[in-house]
Amino acid sequence: MTGAEIVNLAMSGALGDKIYAGLFHPTAGPVNLYEARFASFKQRTLAKTENLVCPWPECNVPADRCQVHHIDAHKNSGQTNPSNLSTLCAYHNGVNDDGDVPGKNFTRPKRGRTVRHRGKVKLLTPGGRLVSNTHDLSTMGAMNLI
Ligand SMILES: [Zn+2]
Repeated sequence: MTGAEIVNLAMSGALGDKIYAGLFHPTAGPVNLYEARFASFKQRTLAKTENLVCPWPECNVPADRCQVHHIDAHKNSGQTNPSNLSTLCAYHNGVNDDGDVPGKNFTRPKRGRTVRHRGKVKLLTPGGRLVSNTHDLSTMGAMNLI
């Protein structure tokens, strides 16, 4: 059934008052129709409550002045969902190494890359270490309170 046929049936009332629609790719299966490039207000608020300051070590930019960052880069198919989002200040969002396509030819970051490790956002250094921001406010973020 084409999209035009569905719209025509819906407009005629033949489909009732509730319509559930899905999109299925012939070889990849169900398609996520809700994927968005940019975080919603709710997703931004969640990211800010998780990290009250930029999570890059030794940074002190408050979350309200941060950008919302895709941990797995959107250009590498990173999803816009809460577990893949974090705040980062504009500077660290700019220098964060977006890296490789997940699972393929992993290389170490040149300047560092944020990753989610055991639920928390950390910096993966070029030397391969995972480092957290130790700013006083970092200990008060949502993931540190559970
Ligand atoms: Zn920062």
